[in-house]
Amino acid sequence: MDAADMGQDLQQVLITEEEINQRLDEMAAQIDADYAGRDLLLVGVLKGAVYVMADLSRRLHRSVPMDWMAVSSYGSGTKSSGVVRILKDLDADVTGRHVLVVEDIIDSGLTLSWLLGNLSSRGAASVEIATLLRKPEAAKVEVDVKYVGFDIPTEFVVGYGLDYAERYRNLPFIGTLRPEVYGG
Ligand code: 5GP
Ligand code: MG
Ligand code: MG
Repeated sequence: MDAADMGQDLQQVLITEEEINQRLDEMAAQIDADYAGRDLLLVGVLKGAVYVMADLSRRLHRSVPMDWMAVSSYGSGTKSSGVVRILKDLDADVTGRHVLVVEDIIDSGLTLSWLLGNLSSRGAASVEIATLLRKPEAAKVEVDVKYVGFDIPTEFVVGYGLDYAERYRNLPFIGTLRPEVYGG
């Protein structure tokens, strides 16, 4: 698939590459200030957070270790159930460390809520969250998200790490797909 093919599948660009870059600058500055004098471990959630992790971490004015987890949440269709299975666990021991979880999007918040409990139970000194996107549903769950890039409406979005059937992750912006794409 070439760039023209990806373009044909798009309905709308919601957040441009420039807007993402500008917001990541602000988020990184905030994280630098908040964690001044403290060691930090970035934990990315595969695969969606790969792009946010790469672009956010490069904006921090410190050398920072990063680690990855892959989780799958059981549920029917596109709805998250909150029951989570670890597909790939951390390599690092988080005991006594300040952990910043890096996420692409928080929808129901159920996956993240589980992850926070899991990391806290391993004895992390602190666990905070940085997400590029957040949907309104997330407000219903008692999860305090410290760094949010953009609040977006309840729409299925792709790009910048977010996929539909493993495609479109490499779009440099956030957009929606034409309904025909889901039909075929
Ligand atoms: P939840 O917060 O509902 O437990 O799950 C969040 C996960 O659902 C995200 O990490 C992402 O994989 C997926 N997800 C939620 N909303 C969207 C969306 O609009 N687009 C895409 N591509 N994935 C989404
Ligand atoms: Mg994610
Ligand atoms: Mg996905």
